[in-house]
Amino acid sequence: MKAIGDPTIQIPSIGILGGTFNPIHFGHLRMAQELADTLNFDEVRFIPAANPPHKNTPSISAEHRAAMVRLGIANNPVFTFDDCELRRTGASYTIDTLLSLREELGSQTSITLFMGSDAFTKFDTWHRWQEIIPLCHIVLVQRPTAQTEANKLPKLLETFLHNHYSENGDDLHTSPAGFVTMRPVTALDISSTAIREAFKHGYSARYLMPDSVIEYIHAHNLYK
Ligand code: ATP
Ligand code: MG
Repeated sequence: MKAIGDPTIQIPSIGILGGTFNPIHFGHLRMAQELADTLNFDEVRFIPAANPPHKNTPSISAEHRAAMVRLGIANNPVFTFDDCELRRTGASYTIDTLLSLREELGSQTSITLFMGSDAFTKFDTWHRWQEIIPLCHIVLVQRPTAQTEANKLPKLLETFLHNHYSENGDDLHTSPAGFVTMRPVTALDISSTAIREAFKHGYSARYLMPDSVIEYIHAHNLYK
């Protein structure tokens, strides 16, 4: 029998996208779609954070944010929803999510965490961050931002990147975890922060996010 890590054997592979999703928008959705296509994932799981450790308590409940994610990914056969972080109490740490995914999926499924460049610059502050890469791969996408300087990587993360970097997308399908890669995606300068601001001012958020999610926001009087 050939061992995992054998470059000729493809193992089941899923992508995961965690976030506050306050609210979900086309930046999240388009990035996930393009990575699913170019890196060949059978499934991309959206995992909303109940209590994001690096943010103030979101203005909108986890239940509303999760409901908007469900609406946003509806009708896409590749996108799935996972409420594992909503079922836990306390801070929503990615390490705990990965450990529970490993319990569910076992050690022979490839798991790839999707991450925007802004999130990666602070990766070394994540809870038990060094225990994350043995549990999953990471694919980084450049996020358009005015503050490129602020996105400069700390030395620690440069080394991390160097040690785990792979250009070869096949690595994500032949090993369950351990590689970091980067992929270009269509640059959409959309953020939940800007969307919340738009709603606050009574501006339209059309063409930044799915209509169904906009309707939900109006129906529940959110972001006033
Ligand atoms: P906020 O403005 O409230 O921080 P956000 O738009 O950054 O919200 P998050 O829920 O924080 O959205 O992001 C979840 C993940 O999606 C992060 O890894 C983030 O980098 C990535 N992401 C968010 N928006 C985009 C975008 N427009 N393009 C690419 N990646 C994105
Ligand atoms: Mg953000």
